[in-house]
Amino acid sequence: MADSPYWNPKNETMPREELRQLQLVKLKRMCEWAHARAPFHRRRFEAASFQPDQIKSLDDLRRLPMMTRDEWVASQKEKPLWGDLITTAPRNAIRYHLTSGSTGRQPLRALDSTKDWEWISEMWCYGAWGFGVRPDDVVYFAFGYGSFIGFWGAHYGCEKIGALVVPGGAQTTERRIEQIVELGVTTIFSTPTYALRLWQEAVAMGIDLAKTKVDRVIVSGEPAGSIPATKRQLERGWGAKCGDTAGMTEIGTIFAFECAEQPGGTHIIEDHVYEEVINPTSGEPAKYGELGERVVTSFGRGLIPLIRYRTGDIVMRVPYSNCRCGRTSDIYDGGIRGRWDDMKLIRGTNVYPRAVESIIREHDSIDEFQIYVWRDENNIRDEITVRLELKPNSQIGWPELSERLGRDLAGAHEGLRFNLELMPVGTLPRYELKATRLVDARPRAGGLRQ
Ligand SMILES: [Zn+2]
Repeated sequence: MADSPYWNPKNETMPREELRQLQLVKLKRMCEWAHARAPFHRRRFEAASFQPDQIKSLDDLRRLPMMTRDEWVASQKEKPLWGDLITTAPRNAIRYHLTSGSTGRQPLRALDSTKDWEWISEMWCYGAWGFGVRPDDVVYFAFGYGSFIGFWGAHYGCEKIGALVVPGGAQTTERRIEQIVELGVTTIFSTPTYALRLWQEAVAMGIDLAKTKVDRVIVSGEPAGSIPATKRQLERGWGAKCGDTAGMTEIGTIFAFECAEQPGGTHIIEDHVYEEVINPTSGEPAKYGELGERVVTSFGRGLIPLIRYRTGDIVMRVPYSNCRCGRTSDIYDGGIRGRWDDMKLIRGTNVYPRAVESIIREHDSIDEFQIYVWRDENNIRDEITVRLELKPNSQIGWPELSERLGRDLAGAHEGLRFNLELMPVGTLPRYELKATRLVDARPRAGGLRQ
C-alpha cells in the first residue's frame, strides 16, 4: 500500500466509462435519499415534475434546477436552526460547523453524521496521500480549530493514513514555527496566505525553513493556492513542494487535489462528487478548456445532501490525460480561478482579485497587500488602489517597484491605471484563514460593500 501513489487505486484509475457507471449508481442513490428525507429536495423534484427513479443517465440530472446558497440560507431562516435540507434529526449528528461567511455573506450552519465525518476524512486521504503523505510523516496543522471546518477533515484524514498529526491550535505564529522545527515536521497544512506568513515570521526569527525537514506544504481555503507565482514563492521559501487542494464548507471537505506530479491543476475526486461546469449566464455545459462555473453534486454527505449546487467558483476543466500520474479523473486546470461574484467593474474594465494577486506575487519583495476600490470626491469616477507592504529585507526600492508593478497591472487590465500606495510595515490586516484583501468602499444603499 505505502508504495502506491493512489489512496484508492481501483477508483482513481478506473476507465472513464466504468467511472460514469459508478457515478450514476451513486447519484441515483443520493437523489432517492434526499427526495425521501429532505423536504427541501422533495420540493425541487416536484417543481421539476421529476422523480429520482427517472434518472437513467448523468445528463438526466440537468432536468433538476440548480440550488443556490441563498435558498439554503432562506431555509435556515424560515426553519431555524438547520432549515429543511437535513435528512435526519439533529440529535443524530456528531459535528457542528459554520461556513466562514466570507465576503460579507450570511454564515450557514452545517451538521455531520458519523458516516459523513468518515467520508469527509476519506476525501482528504485522497488528497494528502496523492501528494505524498505517508505513515512516517509528521504533519502540522497551522490553523486555529474553530467552528469553521477548515482543516478539521484533513487532520482526521492524516490520522487515518497513520501519520503523526500535530494540531497547531490557538498559538502564536512564532510558537508554531518553533514546534515545526522542534518536532521535525515534514508536512504543513495551511492556507497559502498563512504559509507565506509563517515563512516571513521564520525569516524574522533567523530560521531558514528550507533547512528544516519540511518537504511538503499542502494548501487549501483560498484560490491563491493555485496561483503559480504564489506556489513558487512558497516552494522557494520552504524548500518544499507545494500542493493545492480545493474544498468547500458546504460539502464539508475537498473535492479536488493536486497529485505529486503537479500537473498545474487539481484532479477532481470524481468517484465521490459529480461536477458540472456551466456557462454562468446560459446554464449550458461548458466544454473542456472553457471557463465556467462549478456546479457540484456530492455523493458523500448524507445529512445535508447537495444536489446541483451552484458554487460561484470559476474553473476550467481539462481531460485527465493532461497528467501523467495515471489517474483517470479530470483536472481543473489552474485549480479554482476565483469567484464570479468577486469580479469588480472599474471604469468599464473587469478586475478579478485573483488576477491582481497573480501579478503582485510575481514580485518577491511584497509582503502583504490590499485592493481598495473607491469613488472620487465628486462621486463620479471609480478608482482602484493597491496598498502594499514590502518585506523588511526587500532588495528593490519603492520607485522602481511601483513603476514595474503599475506597468504590469495596467498591461493586464486594458491599460486601467492602478494607484499604488506604500504602507508602513505591519499596518495591513494579516490572515490565518480566508484572506479578504478586497475592500470595496464605493457608496451604495445600505452601507459599504465588502
Ligand atoms: Zn495526476
